[in-house]
Amino acid sequence: MNLEATIRNIKDFPKEGIDFKDITTLLKDGKAFKCAVDQIIEDLKDKNVDVIVGPEARGFLMGTPVAYGLEIGFVPVRKPGKLPAETEKFEYDLEYGTDVLEIHKDAIKPGQRVAIVDDLLATGGTMGAAAKLIEKLGGEVVAMEFLIELEFLNGRKKIDNYHINSLITY
Ligand code: IMP
Repeated sequence: MNLEATIRNIKDFPKEGIDFKDITTLLKDGKAFKCAVDQIIEDLKDKNVDVIVGPEARGFLMGTPVAYGLEIGFVPVRKPGKLPAETEKFEYDLEYGTDVLEIHKDAIKPGQRVAIVDDLLATGGTMGAAAKLIEKLGGEVVAMEFLIELEFLNGRKKIDNYHINSLITY
C-alpha cells in the first residue's frame, strides 16, 4: 500500500517556510492506519520489547495501537506539568530555546526493553530526549519507530546509536 499518498502536505504551517506533514489523513484511512501500525509491529515483533513509549501527542496515536498489537504496555512521555505522579525530566535544545519532556518515575523498570514510537523524525531532538528519560530510569532503548522521516534534516545523526525504522521518507 502507498502510505505516502495518504499524507497531506500543508504549506507554511505552523509558520512560514515549514512544509507540515499532516498525518490525520492517514489516520482516518482505516486501511492505511492498519498497514502503518502492522509494519511497525512487524519490525518490533522479534525484539523482545517489554514496553512502548510514545511522546505527546502524535506518539500516543501511533504508539498505543502498536502496544495493543504486541500485547505489551504503553507509557506516555509528556510536556511539563501534564503527568500527575512523580516525574523524571529532561531538557533539550530546540532551534530557538529549549523544551522539557517528562516521564513518570515508576513507568519503566531497570532492564526493561523499550521501543519508542512517534509520528515523525525531524531534528531528532524529541526522540533523543525520550531516549534519555528511559535510560535515566534504567530502561534499554531497543528501537525507534517513525511513520515519517524528514531525511534532509539529518535527525538520524543525533540518535545514530539506536535501531531506527521509518515507513515513509522525504
Ligand atoms: P524533532 O524533535 O525535531 O525530531 O521533531 C519531531 C517532533 O515534532 C515529533 O514529535 C512530531 O510530532 C513533530 N513534528 C515536526 N514536524 C512535523 C510535521 O511536519 N508533521 C507532524 N509532526 C511534526
